Amino acid sequence: MSDLEDLPVRADLRARTPYGAPQLDVPVRLNTNENPYPPPPGLVEDLQRAVLAAAVGLNRYPDREAVALRTGLAGYLGPQFRLEQVWAANGSNEILQQLLQAFGGPGRTVLGFEPSYEMHRRIAETTGTAWLAVPRAADFTIDVDTAVRALREHDPDVVFVCSPNNPTGAAVDPSVIEAIYASTRGVLVVDEAYAEFSARPSALGLLPGRPRLVVTRTMSKAFAFAGARLGYLAADPAVIEAIRLVRLPYHLSALTQAAALAALRHADATLATVAQVRHNRDRMIAGLVAAGYEVAPSDANFILVGRFADTAASWQALLDRGILVRDFGLPGWLRITAGLPREIDAVLAALEERR
Ligand SMILES: *Cc1c(COP(=O)(O)O)cnc(C)c1O
Repeated sequence: MSDLEDLPVRADLRARTPYGAPQLDVPVRLNTNENPYPPPPGLVEDLQRAVLAAAVGLNRYPDREAVALRTGLAGYLGPQFRLEQVWAANGSNEILQQLLQAFGGPGRTVLGFEPSYEMHRRIAETTGTAWLAVPRAADFTIDVDTAVRALREHDPDVVFVCSPNNPTGAAVDPSVIEAIYASTRGVLVVDEAYAEFSARPSALGLLPGRPRLVVTRTMSKAFAFAGARLGYLAADPAVIEAIRLVRLPYHLSALTQAAALAALRHADATLATVAQVRHNRDRMIAGLVAAGYEVAPSDANFILVGRFADTAASWQALLDRGILVRDFGLPGWLRITAGLPREIDAVLAALEERR
């Protein structure tokens, strides 16, 4: 076998490593922020029927425009949304990639506020878009003055804001989103992967009159559908017109479209788990605070906990007890997904012991 060095691979890719949240087979997996509750039985049954119905037509390409699914997603977002304002793809990561294919690329820049979702930077880099990182404040919020100054100085083509922010947890106030939008001529992408867990207002309400604002969502978190790969966005119809220039034909399989439509039919039953997840999260926070840990405010289904003197050693100690959490290389902090009650018990027992 030859290695990468022998191939004419892009020079800027040579030093890279693949995206890698470890997928280890341990009893308690709290490192990728999935909903710990499986899809409701009614959905699983409906899905079987829907996939069977789609299967008999698999000799044909799927609906390239995913009209039924996008109409369903628009209905889920609210009565004010129409098909033309919604786009869907294989996970919101593909949505983000399509956005940067259309609005980023060589010679262009994308600005984000770190620490934030690692894939924003990675997708920037793999699409040849220059990445500009603006640090968040010490409490992980976005300081508006710092943001406005950076936007004026760098004049980016695309801006990413993650709300609630992964990995720190808190949602971004709509007034901050408004200020950022007003300070850039670029496309502002608000990544709302965790929106259903948040009691704070969504950026969806800011869309009217803001043609450069894009809100991305996913079925991977609250919708308990990470394995199915379905992400989507809401924006002005012109944004979707731009994406249609770069998307691959038939990117969303007929099986995925059928499965996601089934998921939408059972949205109420699925999303009934959100309250339980938030309850589990709050119990984990209370237990950790009582044990003397610091926990960043969270509007999502995960928490950022610290401060660890030796973060890597604490990560390993948890793993030794069969608990997988996320170490982002953020000194002093680990991210832990709000799992099932018994999983929270395991985290609390392990971390109380290490205090
Ligand atoms: C998990 C996550 C996503 C989801 O990606 P999918 O491709 O939809 O599974 C997107 N953005 C953020 C911030 C996330 O944490």
